[in-house]
Amino acid sequence: MTVSAPTKETHTLDGGTRFDDRIDVDTKITNTAAIGILLRALRLIAGTPRLFGLKLLFSALALIPGLYTVWLGKILIDQVLLGEPFDTTTVAFPPHVTPLVTFMDGFTPLEIMGVLTLCIVALLIGFGRVLEWGGEGMWLQPAQGEDSATQSENALNGGRSAATGVLGIADALVQVRLSQRLSNDLRTRLYRRMSGLPMTTLDDHRIGDAVYRVMYDAPMVPEMVYQLTLTPLFTLIGAAIALYLMHYSYGAVAPELIWIAAAMVPAALALTVPFSGLSRRVQQSSRAAGSATSNAVEETFSNMAAVQSLGGAERERARFETRSNESFRRFRHVRIVQIAVQLTTTGAGIVAAIFAAILITDRIIDGLMTPGDFGVLFGITIQLGQSAMAIGMAWINLQANAAAVRRVFFFIDLPSETTGPRYRQPRPLTRSIRIEDVDFRYPGGPLVLKGIDLEMHVGELIAVVGPTGSGKSTFAYLIPAFVRPERGRVLIDGQDIAEVDVSALRRQVTYVFQEHLLLSESIRDNLLLANQQASENDMREALATAGAFAFVDALPDGLDTVLGRSGDTLSVGQKQLLCIARGLVRHTPVLILDEPTAALDPHTENSLVRALQRMSAARLVIVIAHRLSTIRKAGRIVFLEDGEIRDVGSHDALMANLKGPYRRFVELQGG
Ligand code: ATP
Ligand code: MG
Repeated sequence: MTVSAPTKETHTLDGGTRFDDRIDVDTKITNTAAIGILLRALRLIAGTPRLFGLKLLFSALALIPGLYTVWLGKILIDQVLLGEPFDTTTVAFPPHVTPLVTFMDGFTPLEIMGVLTLCIVALLIGFGRVLEWGGEGMWLQPAQGEDSATQSENALNGGRSAATGVLGIADALVQVRLSQRLSNDLRTRLYRRMSGLPMTTLDDHRIGDAVYRVMYDAPMVPEMVYQLTLTPLFTLIGAAIALYLMHYSYGAVAPELIWIAAAMVPAALALTVPFSGLSRRVQQSSRAAGSATSNAVEETFSNMAAVQSLGGAERERARFETRSNESFRRFRHVRIVQIAVQLTTTGAGIVAAIFAAILITDRIIDGLMTPGDFGVLFGITIQLGQSAMAIGMAWINLQANAAAVRRVFFFIDLPSETTGPRYRQPRPLTRSIRIEDVDFRYPGGPLVLKGIDLEMHVGELIAVVGPTGSGKSTFAYLIPAFVRPERGRVLIDGQDIAEVDVSALRRQVTYVFQEHLLLSESIRDNLLLANQQASENDMREALATAGAFAFVDALPDGLDTVLGRSGDTLSVGQKQLLCIARGLVRHTPVLILDEPTAALDPHTENSLVRALQRMSAARLVIVIAHRLSTIRKAGRIVFLEDGEIRDVGSHDALMANLKGPYRRFVELQGG
């Protein structure tokens, strides 16, 4: 089998951290797994080196105002307001400020004020933020919603910059592009993988959850990439520069302060790391609840007729409300953890700031520093405190993102139908399909096919018959490899299909499903889905053979009539004929029809069966059917019961056996 048997537990709304998932049931992330996820997310950068480089450059430039503002403030207080000359204390200006100081040496306070104003205006235009400390900088973002899904929406379309001004705008725009590129790459990959999953896996997967993963989990990846690269990198560079400046100018006069400042980042990490496991868990469960809410929407709307006719609307509304509530409740847990982290780190930061303020004031009273130095030192200390908090929060957010990104990688890693060793292209079928001693079970279930052994030849029309649930559809699924045998083989002209490329195999087999699967597009588009090369003529011919031409022609827009959701604007029988016509335009050597005549009137049925008889001259046609009128026209009948072949032969031959299982079955039907 292609998928490991998932444990089918019942998932409850209350109590468990997860529910509604039937495949992705083990959602715990260990620390090692989290690191693996982080490293894997990082590798995505390789896909957009130019944009990422640009983002790096802009983030580096955004550090510039922080290098100057505190010193401009010092000069404003000491030289402009107090009118002191430039070298009153032992505190030296750092190298990048000295050219400006040398230039202004000997200027009057008014002239110095003029130069400062020019500098501030330049910084304002270029970077925006000059006079305020820290903060978020600039955020281009859509409206904020309060649950994990809308937060992801923001992560995708939000651009952020540590600066505002011209740089801030450019930076935020680059980030929007970069985020969208990274998300788009990933969610396209995820979509491709999910749509290539084996049918037995897809059967267990809810559409709502798939939507949630593609639309809301995948966009968390760029956030994660930033929190792994830009945030720590530039926060650390900023902190290192601040420390160096502090040390350069004040190392001699206030060494204790340098120690406090240096300890801030490690202290913030030490305070936040204990929260990481908790943060990961609440995020994971918030996302599971979100996808359960989507599932509730999807299931109700895709079964609306059943829900309404059975009077279940009230119950479904209640179910939706419970899930929606639960989703919000779990998001509040996420917020509570975030607030706890913030309170802890802010508290520690305030203690450090008070200590720093006392220390600096002490030195000023002693005459070792000027009042302007207070601004510089206190400013740098606050900057460092904010960097420390940013790193701490980044760590916590990283856990949140790991939870989302795990959900994406989980599906990317599931074995898909096309992964595996290099497959051979099958030769076009000319002789026969042989099913050799096959057992099969659906994941975690009992055997539904037991010791199936049968050879079917090109030129045959075979009917597969048997009671409801006897395994007819499953038997036919073996041929296009919708399911893979647990034991035994399926051979096409002697070649084991296990060694054959799946899509090449399916180009040889047409399967018309028991449920009518039509897209809500035009009839033409539905036919083209089966065969893109089909000409107008091919389509008309297929419709005519299937017996669908008359009603399609009578539609006001003919072939271009757009169907309702899953073809709902047609009658069941019409949908069935259309599905058959769609199968016919493919012209494959094997044609399998699952209950094609169930919804047809005797006349339509008769002409369809005669068409199938004609077509079987050049191909293998397998028809699964209940109706005797269809069955008896087949060259051979395969009678299935309890997953076993009980009888094989022509109708007359099988009926001749008075005690045969087929005859009993027919007699029970009153035939
Ligand atoms: P019908 O005449 O109603 O179409 P069938 O003969 O085609 O029935 P199958 O659909 O092949 O029957 O099902 C055979 C058995 O396999 C049934 O008992 C069913 O419960 C089980 N089964 C079918 N599909 C799945 C699935 N996706 N997962 C688990 N069990 C399945
Ligand atoms: Mg069936």
